[in-house]
Amino acid sequence: MLADILERLHVADDPRIASIADAAERPGEVISSNPTTAEPLASVRLDTAEDYERIAETASKAFRAWRRVPGPVRGQAVRAIADELRKHKQDLGALVTMEVGKIRSEGEGEVQETIDIADFAVGLSRQLYGLTMPSERADHRIEERWHPLGPVGVITAFNFPNAVWGWNAMIGAVCGDSIIWKPSLYAPLTAIATNAICARVLKELDHPDIFQLVIGTDDAVGERLVADKRVPLISATGSCRMGRIVSQKVAARLGKCLLELGGNNAVIFEPDANLSLAIPSTVFGAVGTAGQRCTSTRRLLCHESIADEVVEKFAKAYEQIRLGDPLDASTHVGPLIHEHAVEQFLSAMTEAQDQGGELIVGGGRAEVEGLKGHFVQPTIIRAPADNNLPIALEETFAPILYVFTYKDLDEAIEMHNGVDQGLSSAIFSESMRAAERFTSESGSDCGLAYVNLGTSGAEIGGAFGGEKDTGGGRESGSDAWKAYMRRQTVSIHSGSTIQLAQGIRFDQ
Ligand code: NAD
Repeated sequence: MLADILERLHVADDPRIASIADAAERPGEVISSNPTTAEPLASVRLDTAEDYERIAETASKAFRAWRRVPGPVRGQAVRAIADELRKHKQDLGALVTMEVGKIRSEGEGEVQETIDIADFAVGLSRQLYGLTMPSERADHRIEERWHPLGPVGVITAFNFPNAVWGWNAMIGAVCGDSIIWKPSLYAPLTAIATNAICARVLKELDHPDIFQLVIGTDDAVGERLVADKRVPLISATGSCRMGRIVSQKVAARLGKCLLELGGNNAVIFEPDANLSLAIPSTVFGAVGTAGQRCTSTRRLLCHESIADEVVEKFAKAYEQIRLGDPLDASTHVGPLIHEHAVEQFLSAMTEAQDQGGELIVGGGRAEVEGLKGHFVQPTIIRAPADNNLPIALEETFAPILYVFTYKDLDEAIEMHNGVDQGLSSAIFSESMRAAERFTSESGSDCGLAYVNLGTSGAEIGGAFGGEKDTGGGRESGSDAWKAYMRRQTVSIHSGSTIQLAQGIRFDQ
């Protein structure tokens, strides 16, 4: 199946793919494994420091040509990319499923997200607006112009191997930048196929080769990209741990960083929550993508008057979850990405119970007939009565939902905001007052706040990102494009006498 997919995606002969049939760990190569079967899919050649140098030079050269292509023409190239992605959506989606274990509809949904952001970028290519402002001096004009920034380094996490790159690359491309993509080593095939589609379209249109891919270790390649002064912006998606390392290295060379890091997202259930809406939305948020989304729901804060009823209903809902092969259309939840993630899940289980958490459902490794992959049981843990459960303050990348109770909304919001991360948040309530309070300046401290819908599944139109340890970056829609351009304040004097600002005289 993999060979056919790669063939249809025109990358079966890609020199980076060392072997498919007899993938094995060899020096200078990395294995892409299928987390569902725990078997290798392919071995992929790793780029070296010298390869990085060549790739970075190509990206710099491409940038110098691409920045002079008019914005709307760049937009037409992105439009052609979106058309090509549409043709390959199913195959790319299946590849995402095979490499990272997302269910089929989520794998395809991810490619759809890249198509959506490409469509958005096409319109944006005619709207890279600057401002004009009145000058205090006669015969003077001031305006702000947005210019292309340079090659942009895009570091992506394993869990969104296509869409996160799309958010950056489609917007960066219409802004006139070239892209150097360093994908996760858990999803190199998706990166090879996605990048190849885009590169092929640009070649056919005779445009510069702005989409560059570098697949390598963090030591040999990742850190080189981060330290590279030719790359003015590093857009990095991944753990808070990675963000701390990368942001310090970029700051040391006075470069710019756009960080999209970990989350620890909560949902508040008010006493008047519509449970037939709240429970299924929260189940999807907690167990979708096997709890491996930055926006996954990790904490449920439930009003004490409904907590017992809610926990009982969740336990029933979890009985309906079908764990299995993510390629099978009836599966709700696939595997975790690797065995280490299973170990981290099991260790969180031990800690949670040592800290007084009550196991409501799940809690262990899951057996799926005929599959040797990294499956765990979707899990609910109820916090002790004093709500003291330190493990819930950490982001464990697995389907664990911690349930807490509260007495009033002020207490719920304080608990909600009492974690280091600040990505996504939600409240379920029929009350306008509760919704307004939650989304007010003293409500949720997250970058994303939802009312009567769950924490995960953002649309591309709004700016996406989070506060605090999530890193403060904004990507995707709205005015996130400004991060990919440099702003120049231009003052033009059309008179013939010198006039200095602030009334300063220099002529006496
Ligand atoms: P990770 O931090 O292990 O790796 C992310 C990427 O960073 C990988 O490509 C990795 O190779 C690279 N990297 C790591 N150290 C580096 C270094 N020193 N220099 C250069 N590159 C380096 O994360 P992961 O396990 O792949 O992904 C899961 C994490 O990503 C979670 O914390 C999740 O919340 C977060 N995430 C955040 C968002 C968001 O938009 N906020 C989206 C997806 C994932």
